[in-house]
Amino acid sequence: YQQGDWLDFCRGPHLPSTGRIKAFKLLSVAGAYWKGSEENPMLQRIYGTSFFKEQDLQDYLKRLEEAKKRDHRKLGPALGLFSVEETAGPGLIFWHPAGTRIRQVIEDFWKEEHRRRGYELVTTPHIARDELWRRSGHLSFSRENMYAFEIEEEGYVLKPMNCPGHALIYQSRLHSYRDLPMRLAELGTVYRYERSGVLHGMMRVRGFTQDDAHIFCTPEQAPGEVLGALDLCLFMLRTFGYNEFEVDLSLWDPEHPEKYAGDREGWEMAEKALIWALEKRGLSYRRMPGEAGFYGPKIDIRMLDALGRSRQGPTVQFDFNLPPRLDIHYMNSESKEVPVVMIHRAVLGSLERFFGSLVEHYAGAFPFWLSPVQVAVLPITDRVADAAGRVRDRMREAGFRVELDDRNEKIGAKIREAEIQKVPYMLIVGDKEAAAGNVSVRVRSAGDRGACDIDSLISEMQELSRSRALAP
Ligand SMILES: [Zn+2]
Ligand SMILES: [Zn+2]
Repeated sequence: YQQGDWLDFCRGPHLPSTGRIKAFKLLSVAGAYWKGSEENPMLQRIYGTSFFKEQDLQDYLKRLEEAKKRDHRKLGPALGLFSVEETAGPGLIFWHPAGTRIRQVIEDFWKEEHRRRGYELVTTPHIARDELWRRSGHLSFSRENMYAFEIEEEGYVLKPMNCPGHALIYQSRLHSYRDLPMRLAELGTVYRYERSGVLHGMMRVRGFTQDDAHIFCTPEQAPGEVLGALDLCLFMLRTFGYNEFEVDLSLWDPEHPEKYAGDREGWEMAEKALIWALEKRGLSYRRMPGEAGFYGPKIDIRMLDALGRSRQGPTVQFDFNLPPRLDIHYMNSESKEVPVVMIHRAVLGSLERFFGSLVEHYAGAFPFWLSPVQVAVLPITDRVADAAGRVRDRMREAGFRVELDDRNEKIGAKIREAEIQKVPYMLIVGDKEAAAGNVSVRVRSAGDRGACDIDSLISEMQELSRSRALAP
C-alpha cells in the first residue's frame, strides 16, 4: 500500500493523517522475525488501539483488564479446577477434584435433560479400525487431524468424532419407521491433532469430551427434531446463565454443487427444515452461504458472556448424505428400504471449552448449584469444634458440598480464604452459636446475615439447587 512516497508492507488503507486519531493507546511490543524466519533480522512490532471517543477507549481498556482477571488459564489452577501438565503433553486437560465436582453437576444435568427428552445414552470405544472412518469419508477428509497407530498389523485411529460409532449401533438391527426417531447421546471423549501453536487453555485442546448426539429420523420428522434440539440447547444455555445468543445458519453454495455431497433437492429440504425451526422460535440468524459442511447445512449458536464476548456453543447439523454412504436405512410405511436422516448435534460443544467459558463468565464465582464447595463451616475456636463438626455433617447429609475449616487460624483468615475460593455460603460457629444450636451466616456478595437456624438454611439451599438458581 502506497501513501505519498511511503510504501508499506500491508494492504492498507491508511489514515490520511495521524491527527485524526483522537483516543489511542499503545498496548504492547513484541519482537518478530522478518517474514517469520529466524534467519532474518528481528523487527519490533508495536500493538496499539484507537477509538473515536476517549470514553470508548477507557471502556475497552477496562474490559481488557477484566478479561485478564477472569482468564480461565489463571483462575483454573488458582481455584484448583484443572491444569495442563507439561510432563503429559500440551493440550491435554487434567480435571482436579474441584473441577470434576462441577463437571459432574454439568453431566448430571445434561443426562437428566436428555432422558427427559427421549434420548438414549450410549457408550462407544475410544479406538476403532481406520476402515470405519474410511467408510464414513472422515479418513480422507481429516487424516492429518487424527492419531493413527497399528494393532496386529491393522490400522486403527483414536476416535476423532462419535458419528460412525452411533451409526454402528443404529445399524446393528433393522428399523421400521415406527421405531423412529431414535436419539442416541454420548459424552464422548475424542482426540484431534492441533498444532501446538494454536492450543489455548481449555478452549483449544487435543483431547476433549463432546456432548454429542445423533438423531435418526424420517425426512418428515426432521424439522420437528431440529426444533426439539434447538429448544434443548436454549433451555440448557439459559440455565447456565447465558441469555443472549448469536446464530449462524451455514448453507451450501448452489453455484458450486461439486463441493458438497448430495443433490439440490436434498439441500433445499435440509435448509428448509433448519430455517423452519429457527423461525418457529423467532431466533434471528445470519445466513452464511458456502459455509456448510460437506454433508449438510448447520446451525451454530454462540452465547454472549458477562463481558459481551461471543463464545462457541451448540451446533445442529442436518445430514442426509452420511446415512446412504454408511448404508443405514429404515423400512418406510410401504415396506421399502430408504435412507434415514441423521441430525448431528451438540449442546455444550466440548465440555472443556464450555467449562473454560463458564469460569470466565462467572469469574470463578459459580452459582450455588454449580459451586465446587457450596458451604464452608468456620469454627471461631477449638472449643466449638464438635458443634462445627455437627453442622458439617448436617449439610453433608442434606447432600451439599461442604468443607470444614478446622485449621488453627483466626476467623478473619478463614473468612478471607473462603472468599478467595468464592464459596457462596459461610457458616460461622462461635460459643454463642454452639450454645443456641444455630450458625451465623455470610452469603457471598450479600455479606452478613446474622444468626440462622440450620433447618431453614437447608431448605433455602435445597430450593437453590432444585431450581438451579443463578444467585447467590
Ligand atoms: Zn500499514
Ligand atoms: Zn456427528
